[in-house]
Amino acid sequence: MKKPRILVVGSSNTDMIIKVGRIPRPGETLIGGRFVTAAGGKGANQAVAAARAGADVTFVARVGRDMFGDRTLAGLKADKINTRHIQRDPKAPSGVALIFVSESGENSIAVASGANEKLLPKDVQNAEAAFKNADMLVTQLENPVSSITAAARLAKKHGVPVILNPAPAPAAPLPASLLKLVSIITPNETEAEFLSGIKVTDTASAEAAARVIMGKGVKNVIITLGSKGAYLCNAETSKLVPVRKVKAVDTTAAGDTFNGALAVALSEGRSLADAVCFANAAATISVTRLGAQPSAPTRAEIERLMR
Ligand code: ADP
Repeated sequence: MKKPRILVVGSSNTDMIIKVGRIPRPGETLIGGRFVTAAGGKGANQAVAAARAGADVTFVARVGRDMFGDRTLAGLKADKINTRHIQRDPKAPSGVALIFVSESGENSIAVASGANEKLLPKDVQNAEAAFKNADMLVTQLENPVSSITAAARLAKKHGVPVILNPAPAPAAPLPASLLKLVSIITPNETEAEFLSGIKVTDTASAEAAARVIMGKGVKNVIITLGSKGAYLCNAETSKLVPVRKVKAVDTTAAGDTFNGALAVALSEGRSLADAVCFANAAATISVTRLGAQPSAPTRAEIERLMR
């Protein structure tokens, strides 16, 4: 089977992770455990997840001219991702995230966006060639919304379906001009509440939130519900797709792995419900491992879990 071609427009960060017994409170100093540096950033994580799940991936992004930028490019190339459209910003540093991960697998994250904030609509326009032969666009909200909208417009122009992972929850409501270009939106519980005004705590509230989001013009809504799985809602179906129980080590990038794998499965022609099962399997594996990109599973690992 021909490999699907996934285009990711998004962010790239270097994650600096400290394992802690629990997340420190404001003003508190905790002596933590292990320190790990790992490649991260929602865009880069989704690109890597899609590549490992079996796609040819092109990543459009901006990094700094610094050591973190060098390492990021090397890492993406090691995953055979096309980096031709990654710009290097002459002034802004590469994005960095400081992450605490607790014993129970919870996390707390602060991001310095750096070059990610400098990814402009014209950078996206300059990558138009990559839109022409893509099967799907995957994007998130760690870059300026104007650039994400530019990407969705180019996708529309070239007939490429758009998955928007509306993360992190935006500071202002998303423009209707962006939402109407989105084929599938994939908020987590917090982001779904932000988009719908409905607190998502169970399947009933997930369905209610999904219907409000559909009312904003997005046909397919998938709300990821952590250890409960994902709630899929569109005109044809409305159901929870559960996950297997696993011991969570680090849930960082679970959503990113989900999105990368979802894009691959859909581009291969699976139904939405089957693609959510595939994405759930990939994300479930990722939560059993530490780090963002290091935790994304290979195609073989996903298929083994699905057997
Ligand atoms: P995000 O990482 O964006 O906050 P979620 O926490 O909703 O997103 O997780 C995304 C997906 O990862 C879930 O839909 C599920 O497939 C998987 N997942 C997350 N946490 C767990 C867990 N504790 N056990 C099994 N799968 C999980």
